Amino acid sequence: MSLKNYMEEVVVEIFQEVRGMHTDFCNCEKCNRDVIAYALSKLKGRYAASLEGEVMARVEQSDRQVRADALLAVMEALETVSKNPRH
Ligand SMILES: [Zn+2]
Repeated sequence: MSLKNYMEEVVVEIFQEVRGMHTDFCNCEKCNRDVIAYALSKLKGRYAASLEGEVMARVEQSDRQVRADALLAVMEALETVSKNPRH
């Protein structure tokens, strides 16, 4: 059985948008991964386990509130990681 966390896709997508606005943010792979991991740990996972679940998750992926929550988590993660880079 494979579970898929759709928040991961939302966070990655939003991170790419936000990073474009923060050109001073370190672009190394470690910092990028840290931001995504940190943001995901702040958010509730949204898992799809079936085809039906997958369709539901895709709908949720475009939900405004879901994206707003993800954006907040990504911004917080960017701030935290740029203050404390682990590279
Ligand atoms: Zn870095």
